[in-house]
Amino acid sequence: MPTVAELEQEAAAEHAPTAPPRLNTAAFKAVPETRPIRDRVRAAVTDFCRTVDKSKPLTREGTREMAEGILTSLGLGGQYLGFTMVMLTNEFWREQVAAVPFSRRLMLLPHCLKNAEGCPADYDEFGLDCKKCGACEVGDFRTKAEQLGYKVLVSEGTPIVLKIIVSGHVDAIVGVACLNVLEKAFDKVLLAGIPCVATPLLSSNCKNTSVDNDWVFESIDLHTPPPDQKTKTYVHLMRAANRLFDEPELTRLVPRPRAAAPEADPLRRHETIAYDFLARGGKRSRPFITLAAYDALKGAPATLSDAGWELPDPVKRAAVAIETFHKASLVHDDIEDDDAYRYGLETLHRTHGTGVAINVGDYLIGLGYRLVSRDRKELGAEVAADILDKLADAHLKLSEGQGAELLWRDSGDKALTTLDALKIYALKTSPAFEAALYSGVRLAGPADQYEKTVADFSRNVGVAFQILNDIKDWTGDADNKLVAGQDVLAARPTLLLALALEGSSPAAREELLHLIASARTPGADADELVARVRHLYFAAKVFEKADKLVDKFRAKAEALADGVEPVEFRELLYYLVDSVLEKGELPRQGVTQFVQLGVSPA
Ligand code: SF4
Repeated sequence: MPTVAELEQEAAAEHAPTAPPRLNTAAFKAVPETRPIRDRVRAAVTDFCRTVDKSKPLTREGTREMAEGILTSLGLGGQYLGFTMVMLTNEFWREQVAAVPFSRRLMLLPHCLKNAEGCPADYDEFGLDCKKCGACEVGDFRTKAEQLGYKVLVSEGTPIVLKIIVSGHVDAIVGVACLNVLEKAFDKVLLAGIPCVATPLLSSNCKNTSVDNDWVFESIDLHTPPPDQKTKTYVHLMRAANRLFDEPELTRLVPRPRAAAPEADPLRRHETIAYDFLARGGKRSRPFITLAAYDALKGAPATLSDAGWELPDPVKRAAVAIETFHKASLVHDDIEDDDAYRYGLETLHRTHGTGVAINVGDYLIGLGYRLVSRDRKELGAEVAADILDKLADAHLKLSEGQGAELLWRDSGDKALTTLDALKIYALKTSPAFEAALYSGVRLAGPADQYEKTVADFSRNVGVAFQILNDIKDWTGDADNKLVAGQDVLAARPTLLLALALEGSSPAAREELLHLIASARTPGADADELVARVRHLYFAAKVFEKADKLVDKFRAKAEALADGVEPVEFRELLYYLVDSVLEKGELPRQGVTQFVQLGVSPA
């Protein structure tokens, strides 16, 4: 657990290194107006990419620097930066996309290309169900791609793409999208090392858009033998983490002792509820971290190929154990907050009653410990004991953090300092991350030299992640129907609240304390309360302050990663920083925003 002094240092650190601000290319999203300029940029990029090292995925900052250099050499303005970055990523991945069989590729098309006036297609769960009526290019692109064997989606949104990739159905993406959408996809898709090429729409105005058709047909047609150099990717490990929870693999790894009993047998029913919840939804981020840390310290064979490597069963079971603890905490959290839904389904306590749900949570915790302890012969007693100790530590800290949060929520005194909030974050979010990372390290070999770094790194990433979650509670996209400010309505002790209490006038502070104290009172006007708190947060500039703290914690995590050997493990730590601490836009005053709930750490 971090000491108070450490946390005080972090909360107050005026001179801590600050990570460079995340690149926002909002001002650089013009597509060159004429085809000759687009061709010039593309040709210059092709030339430039002949010398680029393709063994590691691109980073956003690195791509930006290269794009700036190319634009300068062409004498073109910075407004084409986003376009040039897309051209660069296309060229970077072109050969590897071309080497993926057509049947393993996904073609992603934007519905805004459709003929807005007369399109007869309807929307279904996968997007626009194009009828290929011939009134726009969507039908032509789709026909061509499907003839070759592509899977085609007329839809937008990175989450669905990432889900499809991780589920193992496709290995590369050929897309068409506007620069706004491509910017959002940048971190998620490219950092993960997913081969993709995209043709930018010529405008971003969402209606009757157009595109360089020949570029799209050319990208659909890409087809060459595999290149000599392959780029590292974590996709194979993401898939491996997902497969752990698919049947029959889950039952093979974690046999169900009651499986032979009649279906109506209460013991079997209880076991089924627990296994079903373990296998349900989620990003499998924690099991991924365990597998990826293990792989990184074994020379990272899985990042270059999806064949020729196999994870030992005890390693897989340890990764499943990490998920059992996470799932148990969700069951108990849902009861404590009386949440109605989890992973789009009714929460366990709403379906089966609180008693059963508490018990399922307890069962999952026991299962997690046993998954590691029963493998002590294969793992070695010391390895098993070290991992069990770390799991127990994480379990205790999480309970402490959650306990402190609940007691604060239910107390009449809503005073809160930034140190209080950071302490709770360090207990609630970081230990699970640490346990996942440490377990992978320890499974690979002795962990003494990494233990402190892993703990400090996890604390900084976990705390930064939680602060980002606080900020995201006030932002989101208009497609989401959920209102902002859920943390306020649930009376959670957030860093934003602490910053507001510390940075407000005495009168504003009093008002804020009163508002939070009344948040859970039956009959309170939620909209008015959230609007007022939002106003006070802006007055105290809490979003900017919180954003700076995220940068500081991020910079500390990166500085810790800088000193880590071997390089494969260091690169994994950088990847975790980038993928876990993905920033969105800060809330804007006067703009009604919505929030996406259910974001889970890492
Ligand atoms: S080709 Fe498809 S997307 Fe285009 S207008 Fe016809 S049905 Fe709609």
